Amino acid sequence: MGIFTHDIKTMDDLFVHTLQDIYYAENQITKALPKMAQQASNPMLKQGFEKHLRETENHIRNLEEVFQKLGMEPKGVECPAIDGIIKESNEVASEVADKDVLDAALIAAAQAVEHYEITRYGTLVTWARELGRNELVAPLERNLADEKATDQHLTELAESRINRAAAH
Ligand code: FE
Ligand code: FE
Repeated sequence: MGIFTHDIKTMDDLFVHTLQDIYYAENQITKALPKMAQQASNPMLKQGFEKHLRETENHIRNLEEVFQKLGMEPKGVECPAIDGIIKESNEVASEVADKDVLDAALIAAAQAVEHYEITRYGTLVTWARELGRNELVAPLERNLADEKATDQHLTELAESRINRAAAH
């Protein structure tokens, strides 16, 4: 898709494009999470990343269910937004030496990822309903609920001792 090609003509096209965008993003996230788990020092944060890696693998399966219901092969389209969030996270992490400060940086980066996913799934749920494709809503809402719960868990970790430890 480029500026002059106008490949996205209808809401259906836009829905599929956004589905392919988040499919690509989820696949990139499965590659980023093991590294984040490895970098984390706090055991709860480490476990949180490992748990969310398993959930993310499930998100990919839920998206494949949506593609299947649309009669389409699962396919990703490059998503510069998620690539940028992950790249920035890697750059910041590589510059942090203190383990508590690194944990705070990892939480902040992970929350940027979750918020990106939340916007995408929120949009897809709304569009699926608008297009009358109610059979697509449930798998998308399952992913949305996981992302929101993960974001909430990260907020709790940030507000508890991790950030306090980093400040001292
Ligand atoms: Fe996800
Ligand atoms: Fe996520």
